[in-house]
Amino acid sequence: MFNNKETTVAEKIDSCRGDEKKQQICRDYEVRVISRMALLPGQTIEGCCGDLENEHTVFYYKHKKTKYEDTFSVGKDCAKAFLDILGQPLPPLVDPLQHMQIPGVSTGGGLGTSGASSQFPPIGSSGAAIPAINSELYVAINLWCILKKQVPKFALQRILTSIQVAPSTALPEKDVFDFLKVLASYKKTLKQMLSEAQKTHPNMKSYTFPTLTSIASKNWIDLP
Ligand SMILES: [Zn+2]
Repeated sequence: MFNNKETTVAEKIDSCRGDEKKQQICRDYEVRVISRMALLPGQTIEGCCGDLENEHTVFYYKHKKTKYEDTFSVGKDCAKAFLDILGQPLPPLVDPLQHMQIPGVSTGGGLGTSGASSQFPPIGSSGAAIPAINSELYVAINLWCILKKQVPKFALQRILTSIQVAPSTALPEKDVFDFLKVLASYKKTLKQMLSEAQKTHPNMKSYTFPTLTSIASKNWIDLP
């Protein structure tokens, strides 16, 4: 029963270099893509195969035996290679410096949305409609992570995972409150964080989240 030779240490993934290594990671771990977000100019993040810039794709992973779980960030090529193995679609990129429109999400910038959805397959790209609560939470969480310069953890990681696992199933409103709690613990609204970041990055776009706002206001919360 216990095979000491096969020392499956509680394994944090520190590199995914090479196809064989990627195949092995996908055998040893449950791996799920959860996020794809921009890195702001000058910002880098430690990725699977070195420092990343411009953008990173975030995967959640859990070791099948030890249950060790964490996330790792990868660059474009590694992301594509993993997604091919896993049969999961590439999530839309959230990039507040590019005027990209994700289906189901309003932007506050008064940008035309026509044609944008054809550039962007909906999350999951199965053709099923993505509920607004899902796409707004996807964008809002990624935006928060970009502005906070961190990867999604805990509740945020769980919400993003739910979105990727069942894109067309509307998340419960409770997930909005979980997100708002994270915002509240940082004592700044997304709007405040965005306007601060706009001082450094004047071309950073503004966002509105009508669905999240209406859920929050129904419960006398004044956010995001
Ligand atoms: Zn890699």
